[in-house]
Amino acid sequence: MTDTKGKVVGVNGNMVSVEFDGNISMNEVAYVKVDNSSLKSEVIRIRGNVAQLQVYEMTKGIKTGDAVEFTGDLLSAELGPGLLGQVYDGLQNPLPLLAEKAGWFLERGVYVDPLDRTKKWAFTPTAKPGDVKKAGEYIGTVPEGPFTHKIFVPFYLLGSYTVKSIKPAGEYTLDDKVAVLTDENGKDVEIGLSFKWPVKRAINCYEERLAPTETMVTKVRLIDTFFPVAKGGTYCIPGPFGAGKTVLQHTTSKYADVDIVIIAACGERAGEVVETLTEFPELKDPKTGKSLMERTIIICNTSSMPVASREASVYTSVTLAEYYRQMGLNVLLLADSTSRWAQALREMSGRLEEIPGEEAFPAYMESYIAAFYERAGQVRLPDGSVGSVTIGGTVSPAGGNFEEPVTQATLKVVGAFHGLSRARSDARKYPAIDPIQSWSKYKGVIDSSKVNFCFDIMKKGVDVASMMKVVGEEGTSLEDYLVYLKEEMLDAVYFQQNSFDAVDANATVERQKYDLDKIIKILGSSFELADKDEARTYFNQLRQKFLDWNYTEEHSDAFKKVESEIDELYSSKNGKLTAQAESLLKA
Ligand code: ADP
Ligand code: MG
Repeated sequence: MTDTKGKVVGVNGNMVSVEFDGNISMNEVAYVKVDNSSLKSEVIRIRGNVAQLQVYEMTKGIKTGDAVEFTGDLLSAELGPGLLGQVYDGLQNPLPLLAEKAGWFLERGVYVDPLDRTKKWAFTPTAKPGDVKKAGEYIGTVPEGPFTHKIFVPFYLLGSYTVKSIKPAGEYTLDDKVAVLTDENGKDVEIGLSFKWPVKRAINCYEERLAPTETMVTKVRLIDTFFPVAKGGTYCIPGPFGAGKTVLQHTTSKYADVDIVIIAACGERAGEVVETLTEFPELKDPKTGKSLMERTIIICNTSSMPVASREASVYTSVTLAEYYRQMGLNVLLLADSTSRWAQALREMSGRLEEIPGEEAFPAYMESYIAAFYERAGQVRLPDGSVGSVTIGGTVSPAGGNFEEPVTQATLKVVGAFHGLSRARSDARKYPAIDPIQSWSKYKGVIDSSKVNFCFDIMKKGVDVASMMKVVGEEGTSLEDYLVYLKEEMLDAVYFQQNSFDAVDANATVERQKYDLDKIIKILGSSFELADKDEARTYFNQLRQKFLDWNYTEEHSDAFKKVESEIDELYSSKNGKLTAQAESLLKA
């Protein structure tokens, strides 16, 4: 605590006005003292000797005259071993622990250590006395689950430090000092296994930001093949309520080709958050067969918690992501939903009586959203290794209208857009990513000429379908009708995917390539079909065979059997590749 004294002069929802005497700074943490508890708050505006605080707790009972203490510290997260597998609220209170202590979500004013202070970690020094180190370089490691957790020179230490002494390999708690470093002026600093970092500040102890060029494989065909995401890239999933945003994120967290997944379950209905919390620990990691929680951190708030804590969740989660990136790991941060965060900003802006922007969102919302996504990236670290933070955020626009400010602000900054469509989710076409509206700036796992070939069929097929609505099937030529059937097949057997089937959900790159070639062979062929009835029957058979194929394990006997049935079916109608398709498949 600092010497600055404050007292409450006004309460407006989650915003408290405080008259103070002394020095304070923006974003510093303060505590409002009420009924024997101290409620964590953050300074969000200073005017003369009055400050506005956003309170991270319910403000019930706060009255004018209540004392306020200032800490001089920015809102910070503790970084160290033991973060993996945790479920936190936005202020990094571990939730299962609190659930035991105080029922489900926490009692007001109760703050628990984010990390276990008694647990011992097997430390191995990697530096020796005399070595010179700087912030973001490491001096030792501890094993954490399947990973080697690096013990860093804290990111806030400026300049270079000489290792004066370092503890031998052994078991240490977080608070044991494992090294003494001497700065350029001869001053000693002791280092433990953990340290704090202000969550609103990006961790920038890297040598270089790299262009995100490597695909982050999700095993979702529609994403990897058509709307890919890069490691270190950003993407957004807007979609109306119930369109499958949360399910898609869960599937991704299970199958994505990353080391660590951080889920910021931010402000959605309590039921959904509880679902995440109960489902997640049950999920098995398809890579290891162990619990997915071993490489997951969940940060959660529900819509019933104070809005300010949503903001804290967003920043805490990205800070933890950057921390693990510093170890040379690939981290995926999934934020669900960023709209709730934006609503919190709007609410607070209203209380501050700021000039509102579009739909009453504050004018700075856009730059906040941009700054959040900018914390993604692939970086080269001081030891030469490369780590990445990929950010995928859902947006839940009212009525599914993508023209609203949060979706628009997000689309300006992300590298890929997976727009979920109400029409597709109503038709139970999952994942409900709209193949017409969505886009990506990243490189996918399939050759772009093949991707464009499929897009072309898709667009033509959709055109025929809408024309057929007007002129009917009778008024459509056999040639057009075939385009329509091909598009329908591509959609049914490749775009759509059953995320609840372990085999279908787990479409490897190799499999996507192989399957798509087989589909392109169909899309790019002419067949001897007498009329539309015969064409429809034939494509129904093909479609069913491909669906069966999707459920067979790659390289299995069943896989080979269904494949030969598809090939037989192809020959039965004298399938002939067009020259274009032939050259595509040779490429
Ligand atoms: P949102 O988060 O967009 O509100 P959810 O992800 O909670 O929507 O999905 C709502 C419901 O839609 C789910 O409970 C599930 O029944 C269904 N659903 C969503 N995605 C899929 C999918 N890939 N496969 C099957 N059903 C799905
Ligand atoms: Mg949801």
